Amino acid sequence: MTVTCDIAIVGGGVGGMMTAIRLAAAGRQVVVFERNGELGGKLTSRQRDGFTFDTGPSLLTLPSLIDDVFQLAGTRLDDEVNVERLDPSFRYFWPDASTVTFRDQPIATAEALEAFSPGSGAEYLALLTRARTIWNVSDRTFFAGDMSSPLSLLRRMQSPRDLLRIDALRTLQLRARKTFSDARLQQWLGRYATYSGSDPALAPATLACIAAVEADFGSWYVRGGLGALRDAMVRVAQRVGVEFRVNSEVMKIESTSRRVTGVQLADERVMAPVVVVNGDAEHLYRDLFPHGKRLRSVERSDRSTSGIAVLVGVEGRTPLIGHHNVWFSRDYRREFGDIRAGRVPTEPTIYGCVSSVTDESQAPANCENWFLLINTPADVTINAHGHGPWLLDRLARLGPDLRSRARFAEVIGPHEIATRYRSPGGAIYGTSSNGRSAAFRRPAMRGPRKGLYLVGGATHPGGGLPLVTISARIVSELILRSRRER
Ligand SMILES: Cc1cc2nc3c(=O)[nH]c(=O)nc-3n(C[C@H](O)[C@H](O)[C@H](O)COP(=O)(O)OP(=O)(O)OC[C@H]3O[C@@H](n4cnc5c(N)ncnc54)[C@H](O)[C@@H]3O)c2cc1C
Repeated sequence: MTVTCDIAIVGGGVGGMMTAIRLAAAGRQVVVFERNGELGGKLTSRQRDGFTFDTGPSLLTLPSLIDDVFQLAGTRLDDEVNVERLDPSFRYFWPDASTVTFRDQPIATAEALEAFSPGSGAEYLALLTRARTIWNVSDRTFFAGDMSSPLSLLRRMQSPRDLLRIDALRTLQLRARKTFSDARLQQWLGRYATYSGSDPALAPATLACIAAVEADFGSWYVRGGLGALRDAMVRVAQRVGVEFRVNSEVMKIESTSRRVTGVQLADERVMAPVVVVNGDAEHLYRDLFPHGKRLRSVERSDRSTSGIAVLVGVEGRTPLIGHHNVWFSRDYRREFGDIRAGRVPTEPTIYGCVSSVTDESQAPANCENWFLLINTPADVTINAHGHGPWLLDRLARLGPDLRSRARFAEVIGPHEIATRYRSPGGAIYGTSSNGRSAAFRRPAMRGPRKGLYLVGGATHPGGGLPLVTISARIVSELILRSRRER
């Protein structure tokens, strides 16, 4: 059977859905093909015994970017879901039992830091000044268009000084050392490298801008869990006429020698002059549209990290924890050394999201929904039975002991991420941001044939919900501007 549409989107992750809404709102006939039975990609949740866990994103930043898309569809984010700005935003814990709580207001956080480590309040505020500049320059340069060539970026720069302002020549770790005299806060700043699956010792200091984004624009939660955000995206897309086909794996992208002509499913061919791939670039160039040169270029970059997540249904309430918590390892260098060497870190930093602290609907009465996550290399093999108890043991050494109160501990590892979303090796964010030129080496948004595009975490500007949403904006603009592809 052969059908036709204006635009075929391969993958119903956030990148695919945000692109679909933009293009359908502009009058295009869009069909999204998703291999899984549900939409949302990594933005997903899981229920068990009355507990709900966001198993992908648990922290929402810059919800205004999603609101921009919803407005094109004639609605508002606030009308679709209840988004709440969290205060406190994060609790951080170190192995020496010290702890600091970050607040929603930079001044309140600076005061907390000053009490935690004298002098660090001013250091934090100085960091934010620098980080805001990085964000503002990035917003009008990196995030304002595609990166088809370094020239396209230079054209968006107001002066050569912009290159210095984004602090891309230093690593994040070096910036952390220059900013904070307290080693614990150096570790805190280095953590932002992990937001793009990267290594603080290798990623550019540009990533410090995430600290300003969290401080100024807030850390957000969607009532009912982030699964409710995914449901809203699906609803809004359908309202503007997007057609979703779930359980529909695209097997091949078809083309002439010049341009794409459509996609091939197991038992169906769909003709489309524009194909947008929301899946991973390696999957695209290896399986869907084999292309040696592009594939080699993706393979030359480091994969981003993967992770081990453990979903724990916990009885009772745990004192002193917040919604978002981080228990730092004793030695960050060793932790990332293990990751670089391809091993699960022996002493990992543990992120713990307990959204039932904010939203009681996420756990049965007098219980907590613990989502624990550690960074691992992509491609690593784990022991799905052993790693749950192991991580609870590790957590008990650094912080709360959940072992006697855990009703279950379910493990999600790199292999599941890889097979479910076709993310090679289970890399969460496509290629990493390690190295000065990583931003220029990300797989390009324009494919090797006319009408072929990439969107989402695997392409420009990177992974995480805000960047993926920006990616959808940039690719939609490219498509709508290109007259020949209409
Ligand atoms: C454990 C974890 C924690 C995270 N935490 C956060 C967080 O707190 N905050 C944050 O902002 N981000 C977080 N992220 C990152 C964020 O989830 C991703 O960057 C983002 O969701 C990626 O969206 P995407 O659309 O680019 O790709 P994906 O979500 O990977 O979507 C791609 C879709 O394409 C489909 N697909 C692939 N190949 C095919 C094919 N051949 N045919 C049909 N369909 C196909 C896949 O099944 C998938 O549904 C986290 C991710 C994980 C895994």
